[in-house]
Amino acid sequence: MCGIIGILGRHEVSPQLVDALKRLEYRGYDSAGVATIDEAGRLDRRRAVGKLANLSDRLVHDPLRGHTGIGHTRWATHGAATEENAHPHRSGPVAVVHNGIIENFRELREELIANGIQPQSQTDTETVALLAGHFMEQGMTAREAARATLARLKGAFALAFLFEGEGDLMIAARKGSPLAIGHGEGEMFLGSDAWRCRPSPTGSPIWRMAITRS
Ligand code: GLU
Repeated sequence: MCGIIGILGRHEVSPQLVDALKRLEYRGYDSAGVATIDEAGRLDRRRAVGKLANLSDRLVHDPLRGHTGIGHTRWATHGAATEENAHPHRSGPVAVVHNGIIENFRELREELIANGIQPQSQTDTETVALLAGHFMEQGMTAREAARATLARLKGAFALAFLFEGEGDLMIAARKGSPLAIGHGEGEMFLGSDAWRCRPSPTGSPIWRMAITRS
């Protein structure tokens, strides 16, 4: 269990994401990554194994632009600590960061493969991105795809989704893992924080929220 950061911001977000991930370093991690949406709505990501300095270095040589982004520090549970297993995971217009374990990922993975979708990593997390990407390919909107994906997941998780062309939207969900939302002036923040978590609403095992720029 490591860290998730999400920012719908007003400034270049990748340095902010790395800075925020540094504050979560105490939780331990083996790799890290960020994804952003630039002013043209393009989704892109950078990932690196090892210390956050490696990710910062990657970003210096190959910067990511944009005011909206998600970041992740990974503590591998499924698949080795490699760049291809590092988050964010991407499928078409969707990028996902995840803390926790998707318990039914094998079943989901087999279903995706049967639909001709080939995973690129060994992680449980990638199945979440692939599922959401698959739903969008079938015509669902970002919100519908996230909702349909979350309905299929078993396990404990904190998740954040970003969508290409949707620079003002981030979807977050948690079930048994900490995740908190912060409201700013025209900015929104998301972070792993056990102390400021809202409880899941009664009767709903998954706490879900679409975060939009206020
Ligand atoms: N189970 C996921 C993975 O192995 C997430 C691990 C984490 O919480 O960082 O990539």
